[in-house]
Amino acid sequence: MKHDVEAFRRAAAEASEWIARYLEDPARFRVNPDMRPGDLMDRLPASGPEQGEPLARIQADFEEVILPAVTHWNHPRFFNYFACTASVPGVIAEMLAASMNTNGLNWIASPAVSELEQVALGWLREWMSLDAGYFGQIFDTASISTMHAVMAAREWADPDSRLDGITKKLTVYSSDQAHSSIDKAVIAAGIGLRNLRKIASDEAFRMRPEALREAMEADVAAGYTPCCVIVSAGTTSTTSVDPLEAVLDVAEAHNVWVHIDSAYAGAAALLPEFAWMLRGNERAHSLVVNPHKWLFTPMDCSAFYTRFPDVLRRTFTITPEYLKTTSDPREVSLMDYGVALGRRFRGLKLWYVLRYFGRETLQELIRGHIAMAAEFAGWVAADARFELAAPAPFSAVCFRLTAGEERTRALVAAMNQTGRFFISQTVLKGRYAARVAIGNQATTREDVRALWEEITRLA
Ligand code: PLP
Repeated sequence: MKHDVEAFRRAAAEASEWIARYLEDPARFRVNPDMRPGDLMDRLPASGPEQGEPLARIQADFEEVILPAVTHWNHPRFFNYFACTASVPGVIAEMLAASMNTNGLNWIASPAVSELEQVALGWLREWMSLDAGYFGQIFDTASISTMHAVMAAREWADPDSRLDGITKKLTVYSSDQAHSSIDKAVIAAGIGLRNLRKIASDEAFRMRPEALREAMEADVAAGYTPCCVIVSAGTTSTTSVDPLEAVLDVAEAHNVWVHIDSAYAGAAALLPEFAWMLRGNERAHSLVVNPHKWLFTPMDCSAFYTRFPDVLRRTFTITPEYLKTTSDPREVSLMDYGVALGRRFRGLKLWYVLRYFGRETLQELIRGHIAMAAEFAGWVAADARFELAAPAPFSAVCFRLTAGEERTRALVAAMNQTGRFFISQTVLKGRYAARVAIGNQATTREDVRALWEEITRLA
């Protein structure tokens, strides 16, 4: 059946006009939907149509039925989680990638997918001042990147595990502030949550290297084999940065794989003033940074780097006849470096984004967000009704009302009921805190000012 390209032209013109208006002013929508779980499902038929429907009708339902159930991550007053941006170059590249629909499972299946991914990740590696020995590939999420790090660590510490399953009592270490994706990686790698040691963090929520040393030594004495340490460079709750070099000193004594989770804050490594956060990366084994967080690349795009690609190949390569490709030494077939076979053309959007903004504009945007967060933190610190709940080195600020936890909880709930602001919450050393994260391309000082005014009004 031939494509109805005339219908496409009409619908695509309308859709691109819709996208343009959306990017121009996403704030005309509520940032978070006003609905209850199940509301959208109740509005849609339980079974699909027997006969196809015209695109115009589907588009009308998109506006009427689907949009009211969307949380607008592109909204400039989205301050929850870590914000992200569907930027102009990112959206265009996603449209093109969807049209070509390449599956870059190996080199020959679409050389552009393998090679552009290498080029774009090479640029990003340089801009982050990472060691030149880092080999990159793109996964969908940081969770999957970190899962691959833990699986490589398992291979590193227990080379028989590929054939026999885990043969040693392996242990993994992270701080007590690390993201839940580490727990999931440990589950997925078959190591087991009981063998994940959550090392105590200090008063600024950074891993304590001495506590790590003690835990590793105790484990070795008890017959365990330490296999992986995960260093957070920008934790999710407070964006604290573990002391990488001191952790490496401890980890190297046990020859374990060191993975850096800089999913969000790695973007700040584009700024020379933040070079300290990844100092020592040339001694680590792998690192994740998500361009889909703070580098204005649409979901999903997680950059996974390792200095030991051969360990990933050892862990994952399986080549049946139907997947054989060339034997040229320059060929990179990314199916050999991970679990998945199929691969989306994610490198295209990263390449578009890096070229469109260039290093300087990216630096300006990131610096701007950090400055806005610092200003917001200053307002919090100067108001006697509030206190900062943690240091704020990047663009996220945790704070609470001094009047108590219930008041802070009520404040977060009230803010999110406005439909104009969307903020988050966390618990820090047992104490509840509100959390505001700045990171969308469209967010301005006026948005942050309005956020603070609303917070103080509701307080
Ligand atoms: N690591 C950190 C520090 C994060 O903040 C997050 C998510 O916010 C993740 C990992 C998981 O990211 P993803 O959703 O890409 O799996």
